[in-house]
Amino acid sequence: MNQTRRITCGELTAKDESSDVQLRGWVNSTRDHGGLIFIDVRDRFGITQVVFDPRNAGEATELASTLRSEDVVAAGGLVRRRPAGTENAKIATGEIEIAAQTLEILNRSKTPPFPIHTDGDVDESLRLRYRYLDLRRPHLQRNIELRHRAVKAVRDYLDANGFLEIETPMLIKQTPEGARDFVVPSRLHPGAFYALPQSPQLFKQLLMVAGFQRYFQIARCFRDEDTRADRQPEFTQIDLETTFPTQDDIIAVMEGTLAHMFRTALGAQVHTPFARLTHAEAMRDYGSDKPDLRFGMKLHDVGSAFAGTEFKIFANALAAGKVIIAIVESGGAIRSRRDFDALGVTAAAFGAKGLAWIARAADGIKSSLPKSALTDQLLATLRSITGASDGDAIYMVADDAAVARTIAGKVRLHIGDEKGLRDPKVFAFCWVLDFPLFERDEETGALQPAHHPFTAPAPGSESLEGDPLMLRAQHYDVVLNGMELGSGSIRIHDPNMQRKIFAMLGYTPEQVEQRFGFLLEAFEYGAPPHGGIALGLDRIILLMVGGESIREVIAFPKNQRFQDVMVNAPTQVEPGILKELHLRTDVEPSRRA
Ligand code: ASP
Repeated sequence: MNQTRRITCGELTAKDESSDVQLRGWVNSTRDHGGLIFIDVRDRFGITQVVFDPRNAGEATELASTLRSEDVVAAGGLVRRRPAGTENAKIATGEIEIAAQTLEILNRSKTPPFPIHTDGDVDESLRLRYRYLDLRRPHLQRNIELRHRAVKAVRDYLDANGFLEIETPMLIKQTPEGARDFVVPSRLHPGAFYALPQSPQLFKQLLMVAGFQRYFQIARCFRDEDTRADRQPEFTQIDLETTFPTQDDIIAVMEGTLAHMFRTALGAQVHTPFARLTHAEAMRDYGSDKPDLRFGMKLHDVGSAFAGTEFKIFANALAAGKVIIAIVESGGAIRSRRDFDALGVTAAAFGAKGLAWIARAADGIKSSLPKSALTDQLLATLRSITGASDGDAIYMVADDAAVARTIAGKVRLHIGDEKGLRDPKVFAFCWVLDFPLFERDEETGALQPAHHPFTAPAPGSESLEGDPLMLRAQHYDVVLNGMELGSGSIRIHDPNMQRKIFAMLGYTPEQVEQRFGFLLEAFEYGAPPHGGIALGLDRIILLMVGGESIREVIAFPKNQRFQDVMVNAPTQVEPGILKELHLRTDVEPSRRA
């Protein structure tokens, strides 16, 4: 006699005909066809149709008639082919059904607050409140599974390349990644606090001093930043560090990891080596340090075409030392005047004082510029600089160099979106290299590291002399489709150079000692040259699934106000706990969360 076989809801095919099986899962849907009851039972692996016939299984059928969506059942019976014409090619088990003999109801479900068996739109706060139900829905099941596959691919690839996964602590002091720390009060050390890591940066450097040579970690990071559309206060990095690397070594490991990840988890071929641009080239050609290379439309400096122009706005801008940056939209001349105006409104929202345009359509030249300014020479020079031809539109922004490029870069992306040039299924990776070592804080004007203060200067900048803003760094970013995936650098391993950088950043020797004394001390004990990188895992998975928000690829994310509305966090704690921690809060009771 055949033994009853336990199966998942995703595995039966016509080959299993006549098998005696039992499955367990959730009721996805129920249909009553004149006494015959059809139940679709769902688990993570798929959906299987179970048919209850009162003539063969009276008791089970009666019980089945009471089932509702999301009840949990165990059903058993014989596999049979579906009658011809009723097969469902859309699901893997669509050739068969189970002729039920037994049914056990393992648990009942209340009516869910939203339908589980479809991916229809549901208010996000409701989804987050009932996240365990949201996670049952098909697209989140897919996203979370893909995330697992992707992380496994990273682990497999790095393991095969000699990397060790090493955990670093969560209760630490501080990591200077430029954000605020989350702090955790210590009960045993009244008045003292730990910080949660903004990244494992200093520990991974110390692991290099400790001789582990190749480290990685799927690392949780915490940054207490202001809430912004697609941020989470805790997120995950693929973090790595190696000893004795060149920049090219890190680039090669990362390209290998990403290609393996996309191939194994997604079945997507990623071409290596990735394109490489210097930071200066990225800004010049795309107006961004995270260029989207899925399409062309590079920026052009067309100031020279307007030398002596009658168009006052551009003449004045050039006289004031500003630049005129252009992009060309191929075929853009078919736009209506209204359309051009709408683009101008968009550009204004990006900060443009105006968006000038010239287009050569079949019926002649159209432009926002006065006719008198459109000399043959201007048109010819513009064409030769930008490569525009008949039927194209040229858009121009005049402003300070960095501002004009940034705005033109945003208009470029906007047009790219409009024209469907930013296909989420195309993966255009690139490296941005040769970053400046320092930049100025926009508000305070203070010098700050472009990456972090442990980044080594590039060859030629090691003396750290001259204008600090002209110094270059051994810092590299990897970018995908206009999003920064991560940053890394070759690090400083010489304690004197590290002290010098801290001094340039305005730290007093006492502050350095207090905050980074342990690192500088470690550097006195044979610290090897080292370097690494960290990639934002959540963002990579988001790009893999082509989704809109990283909340779609994290099992239990916070909402946009950084709250967990399911468990209700953050929340007040018992006064007794505060007392034990020697803490008092001065927040009025009415203002408390
Ligand atoms: N810790 C750095 C970050 O979080 C990455 C690195 O330099 O490796 O951006």
